[in-house]
Amino acid sequence: MLVSAKDMLNKAYEGKYAVGQFNINNLEWTKAVLQTAQELNSPVILGVSEGAAKYMTGFKTVVGMVNGMMEEMNITVPVALHLDHGSYEGAKAAIAAGFSSIMFDGSHYPIEENIAKTAEMVKLTNEKGISLEAEVGSIGGEEDGIVGTGEIADVKECVAINDLGVTMLAAGIGNIHGAYPENWTGLAFDTLEQINNETGNTPLVLHGGTGIESDMIKKAISLGVSKINVNTECQWAFQQATREYVVAGKDQQGKGFDPRKLLNPGFEAIKATVKEKMEIFGSVNKA
Ligand SMILES: [Zn+2]
Repeated sequence: MLVSAKDMLNKAYEGKYAVGQFNINNLEWTKAVLQTAQELNSPVILGVSEGAAKYMTGFKTVVGMVNGMMEEMNITVPVALHLDHGSYEGAKAAIAAGFSSIMFDGSHYPIEENIAKTAEMVKLTNEKGISLEAEVGSIGGEEDGIVGTGEIADVKECVAINDLGVTMLAAGIGNIHGAYPENWTGLAFDTLEQINNETGNTPLVLHGGTGIESDMIKKAISLGVSKINVNTECQWAFQQATREYVVAGKDQQGKGFDPRKLLNPGFEAIKATVKEKMEIFGSVNKA
């Protein structure tokens, strides 16, 4: 059964490790993430952007697929199904469809409007017993058409949003979605430390987990980061493995054209990436 991300993230905050959010795109992705979490006895968050949900035909399909898989695969580790960068309308639709966790991203609104809409989301998610992630200060890069400028969040704004009673807080600390540029200056640990000091025991969220070196990840975890989002890295792993299979001509040998064979190297590559991240984040055997 799907759970809210609240307990797993509070435990992670206390225990100084992080739970990975791995974005899913289809059946293979979902199966790979769930199977790895179960094998490593790790809690996990399945991230679904509105674009990915639309690709899979809608929120209800995603909920049905994930619930079905958890039952058929005998998944016993805590799993949250989380809307990633939800809009105001998208968040309401995902809640209605049965998501167990929501990110409402009001970071592109003026702060007063972000506060008002986030407050409404706190009420809606509390009524359903599901977790809520809010965002302050947009995160650099592009995700499903949402472009951020990579700004550093204002600590006072973080406090204002945190005080509404959100479960976890995403704040821009120089992190970027997708690939990091050569001249990237790294995470703003001073800002992260201030935010952590001012927001009590609220678990903090690090978006753009792809390509951040493990020392920085570990330092971020020591400063209150308890949820780390990984998306692009699984896509690269899948792409690379699929490319190697095709370039080697394996799709033309025997029954290599069978989708269950053609997609298998990519599936295994996602599993390896998820495993590597869970080990770095420290969530192995924390289910
Ligand atoms: Zn993000």
